[in-house]
This record gives sequence, C-alpha cells and structure tokens, in this order.
Amino acid sequence: MTILEKFKTLTYGSAPESAETAVSWLNDHDREFGLYINGSWAAARDERTIPVTNPATGETLALVAVAGADDVDKAVKAATKAFKSWSQTSDHERARYLYAIARGVQKHQRLLAVLESLDNGKPIRESRDIDVPLVARHFYYHAGWAQLMGAELPGYAPVGVVGQIIPWNFPLLMLAWKIAPALAMGNTVVIKPAPATPLTALLFAEIVAEAGLPPGVVNVITGDDETGKLMTAHPGFDKYAFTGSTEVGKIIRQVTAGRGVKLSLELGGKSPFIVFDDADQEAAIEGLVDAIWFNQGEVCCAGSRLLVQETIAEPFLARLRQRMGKLRLADPLDKSIDLGAVVDRAQWERIDSWVQKGVADGATLFQPACELPAHGCFYPPTLLTNVAPASAVAQEEIFGPVLVGMTFRTPGEAVMLANNTRYGLAASIWTENVNLALDVATKIKAGSVWVNSTNLFDAAAGFGGYRESGYGREGGKEGLYEYVQPAWAKHRRQDAPELDKGWGKYVPGRPRPGGTNGVGGSLVDRTAKMYVGGKQARPDGSYSYPVINPSGKLVGYAGDGNRKDIRNAVEAAHAAKGWADRTPYNRAQILYFMAENLAARADELAKRLREMTGVREKTAVSEVEQAISRLFTYASYADKYGGVVQETTLYGLVVAMTEPVGVIGIACPEELPLLGFVSLLAPAIARGNTIVVVPSSRYPLLATDFYQILDTSDLPPGVINIVTGDQAHLTQTLMRHDDVDAMWYFGDAQGSMQVEYASASNMKRTWVNYGRSPDWWSREQGEGEQFLRQATQVKNIWVPMGE
Ligand code: NDP
Repeated sequence: MTILEKFKTLTYGSAPESAETAVSWLNDHDREFGLYINGSWAAARDERTIPVTNPATGETLALVAVAGADDVDKAVKAATKAFKSWSQTSDHERARYLYAIARGVQKHQRLLAVLESLDNGKPIRESRDIDVPLVARHFYYHAGWAQLMGAELPGYAPVGVVGQIIPWNFPLLMLAWKIAPALAMGNTVVIKPAPATPLTALLFAEIVAEAGLPPGVVNVITGDDETGKLMTAHPGFDKYAFTGSTEVGKIIRQVTAGRGVKLSLELGGKSPFIVFDDADQEAAIEGLVDAIWFNQGEVCCAGSRLLVQETIAEPFLARLRQRMGKLRLADPLDKSIDLGAVVDRAQWERIDSWVQKGVADGATLFQPACELPAHGCFYPPTLLTNVAPASAVAQEEIFGPVLVGMTFRTPGEAVMLANNTRYGLAASIWTENVNLALDVATKIKAGSVWVNSTNLFDAAAGFGGYRESGYGREGGKEGLYEYVQPAWAKHRRQDAPELDKGWGKYVPGRPRPGGTNGVGGSLVDRTAKMYVGGKQARPDGSYSYPVINPSGKLVGYAGDGNRKDIRNAVEAAHAAKGWADRTPYNRAQILYFMAENLAARADELAKRLREMTGVREKTAVSEVEQAISRLFTYASYADKYGGVVQETTLYGLVVAMTEPVGVIGIACPEELPLLGFVSLLAPAIARGNTIVVVPSSRYPLLATDFYQILDTSDLPPGVINIVTGDQAHLTQTLMRHDDVDAMWYFGDAQGSMQVEYASASNMKRTWVNYGRSPDWWSREQGEGEQFLRQATQVKNIWVPMGE
C-alpha cells in the first residue's frame, strides 16, 4: 500500500475523555440533589424528585428535586433578603466575587465540560472549547462591569430579585449569560435550569459557595414543567429573563403583563445562511457545518435556512452532501466526533416529525449513510431541498441537525427571503465582496449578523433578537440595561389590575341628550382632522367628539378615529420607512426646523394649552419652551447614537449598530399634552422610526395644532401620523396590528397591562408606564438615553479580518 493510499484509508480511532471525575462528583452526592436556597442544600418540601438521563446512553445520571410552590417562595424570600445587602455592596466588592466565580469556573472547567456533555449529549470538543471558556469569559467581563458600574452607569440602580428560566441546549452558558450581568449590577437571582439538563447548574451552585458569595444571592431550583410556571406567577420577582421557545415566551409575557416587572426574552430563530456566487465555497461549507451541526443544531441562532445563489447552487449542494458524509456521530465524550446526541427522546421525535412533514410536503431528503450508535438519541445530519419559502420546514424552528436549502438570484431577493420569517435572531453572509456583505448585513432584520463566519459569540457583544425572536440583549454594555433601572424610578413592581375584557371596546360619538355633554353646541364646526401620510384626513367614520376643558367649556371637536384610520396610518408609516435611510444630519435638520417652527407659533400654542387645560399663562409658556428644548435634544441625538465597535475576542470588527425599531405606536399621556407628546415623538423619529401617535383623548387638540408645524418642517409624509379618538380603542387596534413593531403607552395601569398582554401575539416591543408618569419637566426623567434605547435595537455585525 502506498503512502497516498494509506492516507486515503485512514480512519478515526476513538479518543474518549474520561468521565471519572464527573462520575465521582455524582457519587459524592449519592446521585441525588436538592435545591440550593439561601446558601444551603435542601430537599424539596414534598421530597419529589425527577430523574436526569444521559441522552447518549439512556442511563440515569441522578435524581433532582422538584421545587413546588413553597420552595419557590422560600427561594424568593432568600433572594429578597439577600438583595438588601447585596445591592449595597461596593462595586469593587461585587467585582471581586464575580472574579472569584470566573476563577472557580476555570479551575473546574474540565469537570464542568464533561458533566455538560454527559447531561446534554453535546460533543466534549464543544463543551470544553466553546461553552465553558465562554462561561468564564462572561464572568470576567461582568466582573469588569461590576467594578465600573458607578462610573459607567451613573444614575442607575439594580432592579431587585430576578427570576431566570433557561433551556437545555446550552445549560451552563445560558446560566452564565443570565447570572453574570444580574450579579454585576447588584441584583439577586433565583434560577431554574431546564428539567432535562440541571446538573451543571447544581455544580455551579457549589462553585458559587466556594467563591464565598453571601447566602441568597444565587439560588438554584430544579423542577419539572410546573416549576417555571410557579416562578412566573410569583409576585416577588422584579424581573424575569427567559430563554426558550417562542411559545413559552409568549405565555410568560401574558402572565407577567401589568405587573411592572422587567422582562427579557431570548426566543427561537430560523436564521438565514446566505452564500453569494463569489463566496469562498470551501470556507462557506465549513461555516455551514458550524452553523447547523454545532450542538446538533439545537441552537437558537443556528443557520438553519441555507440561501445559495442559483448560479452556484448545484455544485455547492453537491459539495455539501459530500461533506455531510464525513461528519461523525458517536459518544459525546469522544474528542474526535462532530455530532453527539440530541437532548432527549421527545426532542428526537419532534425533529423527526418535522423532517417527515417536510418530505410529505414535497422536499427532497438527504441524510448521509453515516454510522449511528446503536443506542441513544442520535439524529443524522439532514438536508432538505426543493423547499418552498413558505413551507412549514422553511418557517418553523426545527431545533435539530436539519438544514433547509433554497436558492436566490439577486442580492435583493436574498434579503427578501432572509427576512421572510417571523424571527430575527441571526444571519450569516458569505461573499468576498465587502460592500455587498455590509449592505446586506444592514438590511437583514436580526440581532447578530456574521460576515464570512457564523455562530461567533463573546461577552462583549450583545446577543438577542428582532421580532418574534424576543427582546433584550445578553452581553455587551447593551445587556446591562436589562438588569438596571433609573435610580429615580424606585421600585416599579405592583399588583396587576384585573384584566378588563371590555377594554378598548368603543362606540363612536353620537349626539347626546342635552347637547354636547350638557355644555351646549357650537354654531361653527371646528373639527380638527387627523394627520395621515402628510395630509389632514377626515376620520373614516366621519365621527367626531367634543373636547371640553376642565371648567366645562367646549374647546372644539376632534376626529373620532377607528380601525380603518389606524390601518391607513400604519400603511402610511410603512410607506415612509425610507426615513431611516435619510442621513442623520438630515433628520437632525428637520428636528431643528420643527423646533424653529414651534418657536414661531409659541404664543398660539401656549394660548391653546391654557384654553384646553386651564393652566396659568406662565406654566403654558414654560411647557412650550420645554417642548422646543426637547426637540433640540433629539435633533442633537439624531447623529450621536449610532453605535460602537465592540471589544470582543475576534480579530476583526464587531460593530454594534443602533437601528430603528420600525413602526412605533405611541399613546400619549394626558398630563402636559404638548410636552408629553413631543417628548415621545421626537426620540422615535430622531432615530429613524416612523410613528402612529394617539394623543390623549382628553386633550387632543394640541397634537392637531402641531400639523402646521409638521407641514412646514420638511418632514416627509408618513413619518408622523396622528389619529385622535378613544385612546384605549385606538391603542388596542394598534396592538392587534401585525405591522406595528412596538407600542409605547403612557396611560393608566389597566391600559399598560392590556398593551403588555396583547403584545404577545407577535412579540411587539412595549414600553408602558403602569399608570405612573415620569416628571416630563425634568431632563433626567423626561428625555435622554432611556428614550433612545426604546427607539432603537442593537444589531451586532461581525466582520473578521485578514486573508
Ligand atoms: P421550552 O421553551 O418549553 O423550555 C425552556 C424553559 O422554559 C425550560 O426551563 C422550561 O422548564 C421552561 N418553561 C416551560 N414552560 C414554561 C412556562 N409556562 N412558564 C415558565 N417556564 C416555562 O422549550 P422545550 O424544552 O419544551 O423545547 C421545545 C422547543 O422549544 C424546541 O423544540 C425548540 O424548538 C424550542 N427551544 C428553543 C430554544 C431557544 O433557545 N430558542 C431553547 C430550547 C427550546 P419547565 O419545563 O421546567 O417549565
């Protein structure tokens, strides 16, 4: 046999990692674990346990406690008590603890990696080289933020007790993403790992204890499918952070609506992997292996939708099939394998049923003839081609090693197909043309975009979704804001009001007995119109309602908008989306122009304020002055909030861009009808959003007086649309509209709850005041960064450098 022949016939031997330490650790605990609450271990109150199995062998690894209502309560109490002192520790002290945890993770990294692979089925190569090093990195990075909190986040305070619910695909890494920023910002935590994979979280609890963390700061509770529900129903949490399926994310949004708790959701994805005809195909194939077969494809940002340019599709897919034939599936503890086992039999069945459905719908199935271990939950790498973009397998998250392949012709079509999904977590773009790559990267709606690379993560760059992939970011400075609140906000948690089923139902205006609410009619009809698409528009139903001032005098009539008016306004807002592509300089100029035109009409508006709200002249004049100042603030921010270059471990650029959210619905506060209105519309449009504004029902006429200012300020039609009428009814209509990306609501507690509850339908971002308005007069509360953050979402574009 020649040397060449020998090379061609070389096969892999096995290179097993020893499980000895992990097994000893399990044995030390008699293979049974309690709950880690207030710094000590205890069985669940009712002593219930569930088994944890190794998906590669079916062997039971241990029994873990199932936390019931009493246990959840005990954990919340411990975290609440610990918060009192933990939130008062110095930045440096917290930094030392986080540093000690990072060191602890590094010291036990081999044990953690082996235990993770035993529990989850992922290859040891990945848990050892990716998961655990990233865990340590997260704690180091956030030790830094703890140290710098006072300097870098002045005016912010911790949120309180945080409930964290994590999935089974990256059990330890998800724990780190959640616990590290929470502790760094001075919060305490109750965390629940997924029932299938709790073991590394329990080992982590011991590392925390070893680091000397005060009792109650971190509590780890295991459970079954009731425990998560008990956590989200418990009134003692100030914030929840969840990673998991979009379905459960929606449930959590509804359960927590109106309670004043913060919420971050990192949900599913169906991320595109786009290969242009000039791409380095060898590299793209290896990229695909990482994109969809890393962690058996059980990755929320997996590149599960291949979009390949038609001209190279055939040879590219042929190469891909060949490469798939070389992937090795075997014991996760074998260091030379590519894919391990999927997490459990239920997930295996779920994946398989998607594949069967794809085939039944006409897809062509390719699975290489690879050897599969005789036992365990192993699923072969799978490619489905001949798939229509609208088919279920091209739209739904399969969460397994299944790639769906489609083709495109032009970059425009690639972008369209890439965005043809309800998700928006990540995207990967392959081309040698940097101009094309960056152009496509900015057009794709996703939180992370990797150029000529895939699945890159680092603590210094936030990760999170657009659209139904959720909201909030984990990592980077942007991720810290999920765990702080403005110091002036104090505690925001409250009892949610009863959900009023009749909220938003409305019968439009009609003559009432005794004239206009008993205040008498007017001979001259002064009905203000709405403002849609840059024009004054009559309400669709031609209804209007009287506007009456506090002393009972009729001030005028406002249009009584309905569903169709909202629909027209949303359409106009969408048509105006080119606003985001205007230069920031241009947007700034227009905001300055608005301020100038407002100043020119200051007397008129002050008079209207007095007439409508009954305030004194001095107050009315100040409100107009403050509104002018606010427009200046956001004219200034129009070109000063673009983003940063993140300092990750990548040799290359990771650019965090703050992009507009899209179309935002805004329900304005009743107090300060001009200042409140301007304080909300200005940040939204400064950052490139287009908006549909619903002024307060009581004082709508200031907003309608504003039309003249808009008309004379060169604002493109459709950027600001104003619909007057019953605010609850119009807000509800906006919430039900699928093309509205976010809703800001500054009304009462019931309305805030309704908005949060309804947002679950398509995971709109919401910003509500729970019936408590900020002090619009103050610069601290009425303007600035918190408004800009609501008006933007962060996209991180990763561009590696070098040949
Ligand atoms: P889930 O979203 O159901 O579970 C994730 C976590 O949420 C678990 O800790 C679970 O624990 C908890 N949970 C479930 N229901 C509730 C609830 N009502 N209230 C509070 N917490 C809850 O994912 P599954 O494990 O069931 O997997 C199903 C599918 O979800 C997968 O096929 C995949 O498509 C997707 N998925 C997506 C992930 C992602 O990161 N995008 C991660 C995991 C799954 P418990 O069951 O104890 O309540």
